[in-house]
Amino acid sequence: MAQAERSPANEDLAQIRESVRALCAKFPGEYWRDLDRERAYPTEFVAALTQAGFLAALIPEEYGGSGLSMTAAAAIMEEIQASGCNGAACHAQMYTMGTLLRHGSAAQKARWLPAIASGELRLQAFGVTEPTSGSDTLNLRTTAVREGDHYIINGQKIWTSRAEHSDLLLLIARTTPREAVTRRSDGLSVFLVDMRLAQGTGISIIPIRTMMNHATTELFFDDLRVPAENLIGEEGQGFRYILSGMNAERILIAAECIGDAKWFIAKATGYAKERIVFGRPIGQNQGVQFPIARAYAQMRAAELMVGAAAALYEVGRECGAEANMAKLLAADASWAAADMCLQTHGGFGFAEEFDVERKFRETRLYQTAPISTNLILSYLAEHVLGLPRSY
Ligand SMILES: Cc1cc2nc3c(=O)[nH]c(=O)nc-3n(C[C@H](O)[C@H](O)[C@H](O)COP(=O)(O)OP(=O)(O)OC[C@H]3O[C@@H](n4cnc5c(N)ncnc54)[C@H](O)[C@@H]3O)c2cc1C
Repeated sequence: MAQAERSPANEDLAQIRESVRALCAKFPGEYWRDLDRERAYPTEFVAALTQAGFLAALIPEEYGGSGLSMTAAAAIMEEIQASGCNGAACHAQMYTMGTLLRHGSAAQKARWLPAIASGELRLQAFGVTEPTSGSDTLNLRTTAVREGDHYIINGQKIWTSRAEHSDLLLLIARTTPREAVTRRSDGLSVFLVDMRLAQGTGISIIPIRTMMNHATTELFFDDLRVPAENLIGEEGQGFRYILSGMNAERILIAAECIGDAKWFIAKATGYAKERIVFGRPIGQNQGVQFPIARAYAQMRAAELMVGAAAALYEVGRECGAEANMAKLLAADASWAAADMCLQTHGGFGFAEEFDVERKFRETRLYQTAPISTNLILSYLAEHVLGLPRSY
């Protein structure tokens, strides 16, 4: 069945959600707490998701994936977060794969996709952000220069998450100098870099310790040789290829935020019913009830936008505005729910064993990555409302 024909109507979403929950139940808070302390990667969790086929949800069946819809993929990511687990360890595979699927040659797809679907190859790293350009992606400085049947890569990326736990890196670099292109978005190209061959021969990976356990890194390229056959699509068109995958990224991350919000709301509700202060459950006080109810309403509203964006995406319709709004509203809903949950728990919210402080730190990321809130607002202001360009 073609991807566009997939719809929630012919998938058993309840069954998918139940299976994800059952898998996640094997990775309780204690598992995540131990990893968090050590800043260690959840290798067993990612392996279990891969073996169950969940990370290959969006890979078509002809390449060994499950060929599910965006709605189903979003449900998988949501359930992971709602179970208290952290999909940030592996969510990139779901959306970076799309660039290869949509713009790769038949030979590239046949070579890489089945191995990604089976878990033999991990495509978890996506190198876009650079230290000097930040949100201004078109200003990136990493270069790729053609030399015979190779490209020679030089430059630096920052915040390349999971690079140490990925076999492949989807990399964007400049192949034509900015001064030599008419449109700012021209002259960038996308490569699939085989990290197994690259390490020690032109690429160094430096981990960055962050406020949460995220396995993010800095990458340095020093005359890294990448075979020309690893160029995805046409040289110079890479920015368009990356953009085409961003709606999927926004929708899936928004779904993760909905899952986080559900986890915080369930955790706060449970605690508010059980915690007795002044001789009654704290949840009997409207001052405690109302923030929980408000967080619930906010989450449900954001959930509708995530559903709307996924529905447009899977029938191949333009969904830039909806995907961006879904990410904005869902990230706000998860952050509001996180704050509410911490407050509901009083002092205990700060104790590691309740998992609230860990999830609080984890969900905060989505105000900034993969795109920061201001940049979404700017997109809506300029591209939806027609306000003058600010940059
Ligand atoms: C833990 C983590 C993991 C990440 N993983 C990846 C990854 O795997 N791959 C990858 O490529 N990147 C990754 N990123 C990078 C992430 O996408 C960027 O941090 C994000 O896009 C913001 O860019 P920046 O940090 O350079 O902030 P800057 O661009 O320096 O912006 C700083 C602040 O200024 C605001 N700002 C900037 N310009 C404007 C403007 N014109 N108008 C209004 N406000 C503006 C921004 O909204 C932001 O709040 C990750 C980041 C983190 C923290």
